Order: sequence, then C-alpha cells, then structure tokens
Amino acid sequence: MKIAVLIKQVPATDKVKMDEKTGTMVRSEMEAELNPLDMYAVEEAVRIKERMEDTTLTAITMGPPGASDAIKDALSIGCDDGYLLTDRKFAGADTWATAYVLSQSIKKLGGFDLIFCGERATDGETGQVGSSVATQLGIPPLTYVSEIVDLTQNHIRVKRAIEGGHEIIEVKLPALVSVVKEINEPRIPNLAGKMKAKSAKVVIMDADTIDADPSKLGLKGSPTRVVKVFYPKLTRGGKIIKAKDPENAVNELLTFLRSKEII
Ligand SMILES: Cc1cc2nc3c(=O)[nH]c(=O)nc-3n(C[C@H](O)[C@H](O)[C@H](O)COP(=O)(O)OP(=O)(O)OC[C@H]3O[C@@H](n4cnc5c(N)ncnc54)[C@H](O)[C@@H]3O)c2cc1C
Repeated sequence: MKIAVLIKQVPATDKVKMDEKTGTMVRSEMEAELNPLDMYAVEEAVRIKERMEDTTLTAITMGPPGASDAIKDALSIGCDDGYLLTDRKFAGADTWATAYVLSQSIKKLGGFDLIFCGERATDGETGQVGSSVATQLGIPPLTYVSEIVDLTQNHIRVKRAIEGGHEIIEVKLPALVSVVKEINEPRIPNLAGKMKAKSAKVVIMDADTIDADPSKLGLKGSPTRVVKVFYPKLTRGGKIIKAKDPENAVNELLTFLRSKEII
C-alpha cells in the first residue's frame, strides 16, 4: 500500500502576528515546528506501515526551504521518503492554490492509496486543505477521523467524530483521511530515527517538476483575497457602584441586573 502524509511547518508559537497593512503573517524571526496536529496523521500512517506488509510512507509538504525540517521530523518517526514543494511561484497561495500544488505532486508521484493529513494547521486554522486536495484529486475525503476500524488493500472503514456522537463510514480506496487528536498518542522519535532522518535526502520539487499550470499558482491562482486583517478591539466600559454600605451596594447591583434582564 502506498501512503502519503501531508504535513505543514508552522510557527512554534500561539502568538501568530499579522501585518495589518499587507494582510500577511509576520514570519520573520519565528521558530518553526511540524504542525502538532500533523503528528497524529504521521503516527497513524506509521502504525499502518508497521502492521501491513509492503507499505511505503511518503511525507509531503509545501513551504519555504526551511520546511525540509518538518519532513526530517516525519522521517525520524518512520516515513520512508520526503518531498518539499518549494518555489517562489507558490508564494501567496490560499488554501485552494496550496491544495492544487499538493494534488499535482501526488499525481506526479504516481498517486497514493491513502493520503493522511491533520485536522487543521495551528497557524492558518482553516481545516480546508485536506478536503480541497481530495476534491482536486477526485477522491473521497474522510474528515474528523478518530479511529480506523478496518483497512484492506481495497477499502477503508473509519469512525468519524460528528456533532453529538460518531458515525462509521466505509469507502473504496484511494481516499484522504484527516485525523483528530483522539486517534492515537504520537510517539517521540528515538535516536536511531533521528540519525536516519539527519542523513536522509529531502527531494525538492518546484512548479516545473510537478507540471503545474502557472495560472493556478500563488496569489494569481488563489480564488480568495484577504481584504483586511485587524485585531478586535475590546471595549469594556464597566460600571462602578458607589454606595454608602454593602447592603445598598447589593441592592443597586440587583436593580442594575434586573434592568438588563440578567436576573
Ligand atoms: C489570499 C491568501 C494569500 C496567502 N498567502 C500566503 C503566503 O504568502 N504564505 C503563506 O505561508 N501562507 C499564505 N496564505 C495562507 C495559506 O494559504 C495557508 O496557510 C495554507 O493554505 C494552509 O491553510 P491552513 O493553514 O488553514 O491549513 P489547514 O487547512 O488548517 O490544514 C489542514 C491540514 O492540511 C495539511 N496542510 C496544510 N497546509 C499544508 C502544506 N503547505 N503542505 C502540506 N500539507 C499541508 C496538513 O496536514 C494540515 O494539518 C495565504 C492565504 C490566503 C487566503
């Protein structure tokens, strides 16, 4: 079975800053890491490889040259090979244009029986890339997957988290699976894994390598536009109750809460 895992490198902080003028993320001087939620996707794929013979595991990311570190992280946990899609022509891509590049690379690599991705990236947080890749490849997206119930060479049956419960669905392969945290407990890479990853080669692919249509790349190929980015202004006026004694203060507070129909 051929499995691909889509992983993204994200800023290693929850304090993502936006440039209010350009509407883009301020990425300079930010430390980067493998999207924590993608660790669950990698772990699940590695577990399949461990129990199904003749399984190969490929990690793919689109990002700047430094994103090869995320690929190395995936290799240290058990992926067999890794591809970095990087090209200035990809800059400014929205989720759809990102998914285009990823799906083109998947086609170029001969397709996969199963494609894993995380539920969402901790920076962009749209949760759209996985389903968009599946759409562009014409394969079923299985989202919010919390358990792989059954997997054969031909089909997959999964448990999905839905509002108020779970559902079980089965589809024919190939399919794309985006996983939620509940699916497993990601392992920590061991020394042997880290050594293997250190010396492993990350294959670089650009727009020409994946036969990309230039009109579908980057900002030009993005159907969405960031019109304005702003921080919500918190305006809490507050009301100070000045009373002679605590009893009067409580009465005044009760009158106020009643007037607002809070009590
Ligand atoms: C108009 C516009 C312009 C933009 N310009 C830029 C820009 O110049 N530079 C920039 O960095 N971002 C840019 N972005 C943001 C960029 O489009 C998103 O970061 C990207 O598409 C991923 O979306 P997300 O973070 O919401 O991922 P989600 O959809 O939340 O991610 C879900 C899962 O998809 C997979 N995934 C997501 N992204 C990737 C990836 N790149 N490679 C492999 N797997 C992935 C992972 O498994 C992840 O867990 C722009 C967005 C817009 C709307």
